[in-house]
Amino acid sequence: MLTQVERLLQRDPDAALHLGLPAWQAGTGGAAAHTALGLALMQAADGAKQRRQALAIGAQLRHDEMTPSQRLAWTGFMAADVWTTGKVADVRALAPDVAALDAEVADPRDAVAEVWRRLAASYLMLEDWNAGLHAAKHALAMAPRHPDRIDYTANPLIAVAYAEQDELPQAIAAMMAADRARKALRLPAKPLMLQNFSALFMAAHNWKEAIVYGKRALAAHPQPAERISILGNLGGAYQKLGNLPEAMATYRQALAVARSNRLEAPGTLNNLADLLQHQHKPAQALPLLRQAASEYARTGQIANEATTDSNIGEALASLGQRAQAARIFDRSLALFARADIVQRRLELYPRMIDNLEALGRYREALPLFRAYVKLHDEHVSVTSRTQIAGLESTLELERKQTELARAQREHEAQQAELARAKVHEQHQRLLAYGMLGLLALITALAAWSLRVGRQRRRLNQALAAKNAEIEAQHRDLARLNAAIRRQSEEDVLTGLHNRRYGQDWLEHEALAHARAQRRVDPIAPTLLALVDLDHFKRINDNWGHAAGDQALVHFAGILRACARQSDVLVRWGGEEFLWICPATPMAEAARLFARVRERLQQRKLVIAGHDVHLTASIGFSLYPLWPGAEGDWALSLRIADAALYRAKSAGRDSWAGFGAGSSIATGPGSADALGDGVDALEAQGWLVALGSTPATG
Ligand code: GH3
Ligand code: MG
Ligand code: MG
Repeated sequence: MLTQVERLLQRDPDAALHLGLPAWQAGTGGAAAHTALGLALMQAADGAKQRRQALAIGAQLRHDEMTPSQRLAWTGFMAADVWTTGKVADVRALAPDVAALDAEVADPRDAVAEVWRRLAASYLMLEDWNAGLHAAKHALAMAPRHPDRIDYTANPLIAVAYAEQDELPQAIAAMMAADRARKALRLPAKPLMLQNFSALFMAAHNWKEAIVYGKRALAAHPQPAERISILGNLGGAYQKLGNLPEAMATYRQALAVARSNRLEAPGTLNNLADLLQHQHKPAQALPLLRQAASEYARTGQIANEATTDSNIGEALASLGQRAQAARIFDRSLALFARADIVQRRLELYPRMIDNLEALGRYREALPLFRAYVKLHDEHVSVTSRTQIAGLESTLELERKQTELARAQREHEAQQAELARAKVHEQHQRLLAYGMLGLLALITALAAWSLRVGRQRRRLNQALAAKNAEIEAQHRDLARLNAAIRRQSEEDVLTGLHNRRYGQDWLEHEALAHARAQRRVDPIAPTLLALVDLDHFKRINDNWGHAAGDQALVHFAGILRACARQSDVLVRWGGEEFLWICPATPMAEAARLFARVRERLQQRKLVIAGHDVHLTASIGFSLYPLWPGAEGDWALSLRIADAALYRAKSAGRDSWAGFGAGSSIATGPGSADALGDGVDALEAQGWLVALGSTPATG
């Protein structure tokens, strides 16, 4: 049976369902077979759009033993169809099953993501925007890679959830993300998606972008019905931008599409009529409105019919046909009552009363006015319980409540006055109209404070965004400063420190390092080594300046490899480097320099296919050299330079250095101790020479 059902599934899910259902209900075969057949039938029911049936089968399978992939399939169908019960509690009850997949079905993650997306869609179908938003975001987070198909399908759900909660920037961002994913996946642009973009921008009052996307939606070959709705949006955007001729032309284009496809476009008729009304052309608006009303009546769209009727009444009134207007207003009011739309009735009453007053039919106006007061009364108490209570957390609420209380008091006072006034038939109408003004004010106040709350929230969001932006700018600036500081301390070619940094270090850091070390080890001064490439000029001469640069970079790399973490490497100038080794005794020098020579031999420099053998000469000394020479790093450097000269004279590829003579207790103590040259100082026992030869290393 299972194989038969499975074979039929794709081609004719209806037939598959009919074939398998009786057997499944009879419950023949083992438990595993029953589960497998049930899942196949769920799929068939889902494919045949018999969603309630799929759910009914699913409910019976819920506690069956299933493999992870069966559980995945079961949850997937349930998540897709659960909204058809119309109960958001059913969606919530399914959520733990979906969440369990995250751990149970490690792979494929994209299938789990898809189940989350379906759950999100079910939440949204039942208008639980928050839960839908979370589920859709979770779907995105579950995607194994980006862009994934889920980026394309879940982001529009996120956009809907945000848009429904009036979070338009986030909604637009989500739509953009969906569109980016679409492009990356090379899917064609769907007119519906572009149309949604346009509608979102409309809602965000960004008329220009709404027009851009509206036009793109049109260019994406939409179906006639979609085309009409897109043109309607476009016309609205033009209207908002004040481009009335374009708006008019666009609406008329929509109507032409409707006519040639035998479609109804009552919305467009209304929009066009509205435009004409605003241009004080009620006579032209009237036939359009009547057509729209009859289309709404035919399709049973009561609320829209009622709105259109009230617009017809308005047009008739402005044409002076007030008796007719009164009749159609009555019909509009009755329809609004049937559709239970209190707000619209509250808007309609004053117009009706005005119209009757203009007709001199005061006796009819009075009961209408009473009905108006009563409805308004009920409405205020209802909104104060629901809508206003919803804002309890905001600061504005306190003010609103006092305002409402005051309005209520005024209102009650006015009502008492009304009761008194009833006695005086003569003054009845005048008094009533005085109250009408006040009631309008109360309604306006409530609406105003709601709007202020919303604006404040938007403002806070905008402020938070601005703060984040400023913080980001600060971070960028800090990064930039760090980069500039680094550049000012760095040699561009080799990436080693530059001479300025080296001098600063010797001036400000070296002694502190030496002192810090000395506490641990009495003979731990800083070793200063000047390292100069031999016959470097020849490289430039033979291979060009760029090759010379390459050699310098190569050599800098070798120095880096030989230096220790605490060492400071400086490009002192040209092809000469200063290697500062804190807390390093003379005895260590030979080992360090041997390492340099070794590396130079190992790591050949190749220029234009030729091996070039680099050698370097090193002259070094210590800082401070003698007790009392603290601070005179220049003296140590001059002695290192003299040592370098010796190494060069000795045939290069070698090193030489001077330390303090052992007979010296205090050192020469004079800044120009070098006046006599190193040779004299050495002869007098102030300095002691150390060195290697090219042959011995
Ligand atoms: P010695 O063994 O005596 O040190 O000989 P040498 O050729 O290495 O020394 P000399 O001072 O005669 O020449 C150094 C050359 O280094 C001269 C100069 O043009 C070159 N030089 C200095 N800085 C750079 C640089 O940044 N890039 C290149 N390619 N060459 C440089
Ligand atoms: Mg040189
Ligand atoms: Mg040189």
